Amino acid sequence: MVIKSNNFCIVLSSPSGAGKTSISKRLLKIDRSICLSISCTTRPIRKGETHKKDYLFLSDKQFSDLIKKNQFLEYAEVFGFRYGTLRKTIVNFFKKKKDVLFDIDWQGFQQLKQSNLEVVGIFILPPSKKELVNRLKTRGRDTKNEMKKRMNLVQNEISHFPEYDYVVVNKDINICVKQIKNIIESERLKRSRLKNLTNFVDKFRN
Ligand code: 5GP
Repeated sequence: MVIKSNNFCIVLSSPSGAGKTSISKRLLKIDRSICLSISCTTRPIRKGETHKKDYLFLSDKQFSDLIKKNQFLEYAEVFGFRYGTLRKTIVNFFKKKKDVLFDIDWQGFQQLKQSNLEVVGIFILPPSKKELVNRLKTRGRDTKNEMKKRMNLVQNEISHFPEYDYVVVNKDINICVKQIKNIIESERLKRSRLKNLTNFVDKFRN
């Protein structure tokens, strides 16, 4: 299925603990033209999470069935569990003329770039390794084992930053959100995205 739209995908990727989730929440509050893509995952639900709000929590079989039916726009394995974006989620948002925010990893970003969609990739870096470890500890939602796995993967995730269009360091969340909002606004003003510009400019002719 070819998805056509003047809207675009905004991908936020980062190592765990760089603040992606908080940044996404703030962006959604200040920009009503953005909707968040809710992913599917086979990872167990965590305390405080809600099915369909944070993720669609699926069994391995349900996930495999969706792959077979070609329902995913992208999917990947992260920390031993599968995560994926359903095509229909994006189609529905584009129908409503919304830009779509993705909180996905570098593998998903690469797959999206290979689709026919307009994709803007933003990589968020933590200010330092020390700060990253602190943040992972204080959010306290990972088990010790999970935390160890995540720290081992941080290096690998960070190595993918050159593939992104923009890189933002999250030292101060207010500044970081402002910077991302500016990126989004600038992307919206790209000449290539302003489809009716020729008609508009024609009206200035004598
Ligand atoms: P968490 O389990 O902490 O919610 O997410 C783990 C990682 O999976 C994060 O880096 C997140 O960005 C990534 N992720 C979440 N949803 C998707 C998805 O639909 N596709 C891909 N490729 N990665 C995802």
